[in-house]
Amino acid sequence: MQNTTHTHCLRCGRPLTSAKSQAAGYGPTCARHIRRAQVELTDYKAHQVASAIDLIEDGAIVLIRDQVFAAVSTDGTETHLVHPAACNCKAGLRGTRCYHQLAARMLLAA
Ligand SMILES: [Zn+2]
Ligand SMILES: [Zn+2]
Repeated sequence: MQNTTHTHCLRCGRPLTSAKSQAAGYGPTCARHIRRAQVELTDYKAHQVASAIDLIEDGAIVLIRDQVFAAVSTDGTETHLVHPAACNCKAGLRGTRCYHQLAARMLLAA
């Protein structure tokens, strides 16, 4: 879990009022959009989908420029640059689909 709190929604930029939203980085409406995002999941395993949702709900993946996200690694020591089709984490550099890419796709589809 991240200790960072967010004052504004990472998706729409509106101020976040509840402690839960501030921890997640998304308001309830945006959180619902992200959960319902239509993303092709057949290439991903269930644990990767769960990790991607965790990453998003922890506010640990943030859009930094068009289609490019910064994602904090699980232990919080590294930041990966993530594109829906590429990532510079170990798995991504090997050409494996990682959950960072999945999270980026979910956010773009939301
Ligand atoms: Zn929002
Ligand atoms: Zn990755």
